[in-house]
Amino acid sequence: MGGRVQKLAVNAGFGCPNRDGTVGTGGCTFCRNDAFTPSYCMMGHDVAWQLREGIEFHKRRYRKAEKYLAYFQSFSNTYAPVERLREVYESALEVDGVVGIVVGTRPDCVDGAVLDLLEELSRKYYVAVEYGIESCRDESLRAMNRGHDFECARRAVHDTAGRGIAVGAHFILGLPGETDEMLIDQVATINSLPLTSVKFHQLQIFADTAMERDYRLHPERYRFWTLEEYIDLFIEILRRLRPDIAVERFAGEAPPRYHAGPAWGLIRNEQLTAMLEKRMEELGACQGCVPAIIED
Ligand code: SF4
Repeated sequence: MGGRVQKLAVNAGFGCPNRDGTVGTGGCTFCRNDAFTPSYCMMGHDVAWQLREGIEFHKRRYRKAEKYLAYFQSFSNTYAPVERLREVYESALEVDGVVGIVVGTRPDCVDGAVLDLLEELSRKYYVAVEYGIESCRDESLRAMNRGHDFECARRAVHDTAGRGIAVGAHFILGLPGETDEMLIDQVATINSLPLTSVKFHQLQIFADTAMERDYRLHPERYRFWTLEEYIDLFIEILRRLRPDIAVERFAGEAPPRYHAGPAWGLIRNEQLTAMLEKRMEELGACQGCVPAIIED
């Protein structure tokens, strides 16, 4: 039977190889993980507790969800021995109402053993992996101290999708050095990946990050769109995006207290979506209406 399935973010306490010295130490220059972590999703509580809290919270707020997906969002959620990963994922799947997991991670943080586990779970539950790709341009990945190149992301997406697991990818729009044309051209590369879903975010500069320091020193490297400009750019991206790729998000504002650069102010996701839909109607635009170009 159909029904709303709600994603619930959990923090399993995994680390990040780009912070602990395995890949790097400083982390990605934009990273401020707490800016996107819901309040019920606190360290110190196990995943099952967080899920039960999250389910209560959503029942009070929305009352519509019937089933839930545990969304391992913070840090790199495949960065642990595979036995530990099994324990954590299975503890989530045992919570009443949870029908699947969505695992956010870095493309350099999966190997055959991790994918074996995810493939095994996917035979019984919904399983998706969401990779932070951020940009298809190696120069941008280097500048943000990402610690992997685009080829690594391409490999991870193919290896994961090849096992029948749904794959999502996250991209940041507006990184220094990337023009509107580059972002529109990048869609051909995105179309070439076996992705089920994508998320886009406009660049936001968070306080106490390496990016904030760079922004203070070199503001000329950064550019910011008004919300209206961003929506128009995003529509050009969407027109070229393969129509079978689900867009889970096209923008998002972190709470104002985290911002150290220009921001759009408090705006809810529903408002953003309504603005996008209205503008698409005005322009007669739809996803994939410009024939998708798929890179060789
Ligand atoms: S964005 Fe992800 S990969 Fe980068 S430092 Fe933060 S947790 Fe690590």
